[in-house]
Amino acid sequence: MQKQIIGILGIQGGFSKHQQMVQNLGFTTLIVKTLADLNKVDKLILPGGESTTIRLLLKKHGLWDELKKFCQTKPVFGTCAGSILLAKNIVSNDSTIEDSLENIDITVTRNSYGRQIESFVTMLDINLNGSVHHISSTFIRAPQITQVGPNVEVLATYNNLPVLVQEGSTLAATFHPELTYDNTICNYFLNTM
Ligand code: GLN
Repeated sequence: MQKQIIGILGIQGGFSKHQQMVQNLGFTTLIVKTLADLNKVDKLILPGGESTTIRLLLKKHGLWDELKKFCQTKPVFGTCAGSILLAKNIVSNDSTIEDSLENIDITVTRNSYGRQIESFVTMLDINLNGSVHHISSTFIRAPQITQVGPNVEVLATYNNLPVLVQEGSTLAATFHPELTYDNTICNYFLNTM
């Protein structure tokens, strides 16, 4: 079998920690900035950052529609801003509806825990393949998932709200699994999805 190439969207935001974690798990990575890059990868991680900026730049570089198609056919993992872009419905602070990749049947509300200073680290129970993993998780100006569709599996919650969800080959975390020493979630994405 040909070696898989794991793409990490490198338009804006925290892509280098994802790259390190993926490489530590023995995979080849490619920072995706262009359509030519996107066409080379088998799976893609959409990192955290500022979803409005990432969206703007994706559109400006003609990547938005191609990325939408990519997400429909290949495994993708969105973290924080990445999870926002993948959500079917995005609600921003002033309740305006934002454009998305419409890839996973969830509704997210941006910046739901408040400003940067309200960022926090907490232990989560993550359910993967029938086992529970207790993992320290970092939330930075995170969104909240306020609705999930019938085919969405909730793999972890915080204060009764979903924070890690999966639908088919799409995984979305409202937090930053790359900012901890525990690579269980990344490993799950790379080896089982
Ligand atoms: N608040 C950011 C947004 O709405 C997400 C923050 C993050 O990715 N850590 O896009």
